[in-house]
Amino acid sequence: SGKGKKHGGECVKVVVRCRPLASKEIADGRQRIVDMDSQTGQVTVRNPKMDLKEPPKAFTFDQVFDWNSTQEQVYEDAAKPIVISVLEGYNGTVFAYGQTGTGKTHTMEGRDEPADQRGIIPNAFEHIFAEIAQTEGTEFLVRASFLEIYNEEIRDLLAKNPNNKLELKESVETGVYVKDLTSFVVKGVQEIRNVLLVGKKNRTVGATLMNQDSSRSHSIFSITIETSTHIKAGPKDDGPTIRVGKLNLVDLAGSERQGKTGATGDRLKEATNINWSLSALGNVISALVDGKSGHIPYRDSKLTRLLQDSLGGNTKTVMVANLGPADYNFDETVSTLRYANRAKNI
Ligand code: ADP
Ligand code: MG
Repeated sequence: SGKGKKHGGECVKVVVRCRPLASKEIADGRQRIVDMDSQTGQVTVRNPKMDLKEPPKAFTFDQVFDWNSTQEQVYEDAAKPIVISVLEGYNGTVFAYGQTGTGKTHTMEGRDEPADQRGIIPNAFEHIFAEIAQTEGTEFLVRASFLEIYNEEIRDLLAKNPNNKLELKESVETGVYVKDLTSFVVKGVQEIRNVLLVGKKNRTVGATLMNQDSSRSHSIFSITIETSTHIKAGPKDDGPTIRVGKLNLVDLAGSERQGKTGATGDRLKEATNINWSLSALGNVISALVDGKSGHIPYRDSKLTRLLQDSLGGNTKTVMVANLGPADYNFDETVSTLRYANRAKNI
């Protein structure tokens, strides 16, 4: 839509999505404190404790999706432009940010049935293979990988033994990569859906075995699309043109303040790592959006290092900041909006 901020070809767009009040919240008499104006992109939040004494806090974003927004709308407006540019050979990333329970996984994955409940990931699958089926004169090679970052450790969700920790490496030719990461060549929607399913199962099993909480890990589903186009324009044949684009679909760890309530040992270490990596991501995005600072602090976390080649340069990024509408989430909601606001910059 061209609304995001562009600096030398890169583009970061920040949108906000607020889920409806849950039936339990309605039953508990919870009030909605969030208001959104989809025309202006404004979000306002009123402090339920101060009621009328304090003016509502107001923020403006590239786009806002209220509780009536559909999965299809979110895909069309937030994700589709990125998928299109990945098909053209650029890298792109979609992040879902927010407190646990606000709809990150709903936004990224959603539910399989009914089909209109599918989130960005399954919609991207459909879109990519529909595009491939329609395109003549180009060959496509699609590969998928799926990993999680838990406590600053990388796990391959498609490996035979997903509990092995993988290392980040860097090479001149390929840039930053995860050593020994499984990637599957997929020929159609059904195959790539199976890859997602296998990874999700491994994630749940692994989390149970290791007594972990998946809301504390970042998951990254990556789709690499290689295209080969052979145009014989004249007597001189230069061979095929190869392009490679990579799409990263990221369901971030819950942004709620962690470890404040007496967490100790492993839990405290996890909490510190989550806060650290989310703030490192915020720093990278705001440095990119700012466009002035020459130094982008990619190296500060596994997440930002891993996504280095997909953030900045000729890439597109969208951050979907998810909110809960209810009064008891006031502090977290404001903190999510502040984070998203910083990533946006006017
Ligand atoms: P998170 O991944 O951020 O922890 P979830 O995606 O699991 O949150 O969402 C929490 C609950 O709210 C789920 O039951 C989910 O189905 C529901 N939910 C989230 N967003 C929406 C929405 N936009 N419309 C309807 N239900 C939603
Ligand atoms: Mg989730």
